[in-house]
Amino acid sequence: MTTHEVYAVKFAQHHRARRVDFYHGAGAEPVDSPVGIDYFVWLIRSPEADIVVDAGFTPEVARKRSRPDYYRSPSAALELLGVEPACVPYVVLTHLHYDHAGDLDPFTSARIVLQDQELRFWTGRHIHRRELLRHIETEDVLRLVRMSHAGRVLFVDGSRELVPGVTVHQLGGHTPGMQVVRVETGSGPIVLAGDATHLQDNIGGDAPASVFTDLPLVYEGFDRMVDLAGGDIERVIPGHEPTLLDRIPPVAGLDGIAGRIA
Ligand SMILES: [Zn+2]
Repeated sequence: MTTHEVYAVKFAQHHRARRVDFYHGAGAEPVDSPVGIDYFVWLIRSPEADIVVDAGFTPEVARKRSRPDYYRSPSAALELLGVEPACVPYVVLTHLHYDHAGDLDPFTSARIVLQDQELRFWTGRHIHRRELLRHIETEDVLRLVRMSHAGRVLFVDGSRELVPGVTVHQLGGHTPGMQVVRVETGSGPIVLAGDATHLQDNIGGDAPASVFTDLPLVYEGFDRMVDLAGGDIERVIPGHEPTLLDRIPPVAGLDGIAGRIA
C-alpha cells in the first residue's frame, strides 16, 4: 500500500477572531469574547509527488481583511519544506472561502481539485447575498473560472482517488461543495478536515461553527470524518486549531511554522 507523510504548514494566525463565528449559538461564552485561530495549508508528501491541500490567502488579502499576524504567503511557507510550487501536480481546495483559495498563482502546472457543487454555488444565483459574499474574494472565483476554461480544474462529484492512498470526499454543510481529504499514512488514515471542523472543540464538543449552508450536513460530516479516520476522532485534523502545532513534532528548523501530523 502507498503511504504518505502529512504536514501542517502555518502561514498566519488571528488571535482576535469572533467567537460567534466559530461556535453556532456561541456556546456558554459571551458571543464577543475573542477566539484564537491559526491559518494552515497542508502538505501530503510521498516519493512520487507533493500534493497541497488548500491555498490560503495572499498578502494583499491579508491587508485588505486586517490580518496583521500574516507571516508569509502559503506557497512561500511550503517552499520552506522544499516544495516547488511549480511542480505540484494537485492542489485540493476544500472549499472556496477566502482563506482557502487565494494563493494559487505559484502552482503553475497543478490541477485544482474542486467539487462540482462548490464552483456552481459561488457562481450561482445566491452569491450576491452579503452573508455569503463576505466569505469569498471575487477574484478567487474568477481565477478558478479562468482555470476551468483552460482545463486545469479537476471537478469531482462526491468521492475520488487522486493517487493511491489519497482520496477526496464531499461532505457539504459548511459550504455546498465542502470536501475533506483522506490520506493513508504509515500509522493509519488521516483526515484533513478543512472547515468541516474548524477547531477540535467543534467536532469534539458536537458544537458546529456558525458559518454553514446546511446544519444537518455539518453533523453528518462530523460522523463521516470519524468513519473515514478509521473510527478515531484524533485522526481528524481540524482546519484552524491553534493548539495543533503544539501537539505534533515540529519540522526541524521550522518550529511554530510546520509540523508533521503523520
Ligand atoms: Zn477557513
